[in-house]
Amino acid sequence: MCIFCKIVQGEIPCNKVHENDEFLAFHDVNPKAPIHILVIPKKHIDKFQNVTPELMAKMTPFIQEVAKILELDQRGYRLIVNNGEDGGQEVMHLHFHILGGTKLLWPQLTPDENKKYL
Ligand code: AMP
Repeated sequence: MCIFCKIVQGEIPCNKVHENDEFLAFHDVNPKAPIHILVIPKKHIDKFQNVTPELMAKMTPFIQEVAKILELDQRGYRLIVNNGEDGGQEVMHLHFHILGGTKLLWPQLTPDENKKYL
């Protein structure tokens, strides 16, 4: 069983923010911003590439609710999904990162800082 499925089952503790029958939101153990939340479906789905439109239609309002609970809805926040190997996904259970609580930077994401992509 993957680590996030163990969190869903209660085998590993988490610092929960919100949940319903299908989704769970909890604080990231290694926060990259003052507020760093992970939102996951309780059902195991390995990555964003394999999520259904039906599940996303329900996940979207859940993420918006979490943002409201954390009072990020007015100031703004960033949503990140790392998908697969090149995307830097480490835990193979779909999760959205919600990052906020300060004005976020938009850093260089590849090692070659001089390369132009357009
Ligand atoms: P990713 O690189 O997109 O797969 O992100 C995985 C995230 O899960 C990282 O930000 C980790 O800090 C976080 N993480 C790993 N294990 C736990 C855990 N037990 N509780 C909370 N967050 C975790």
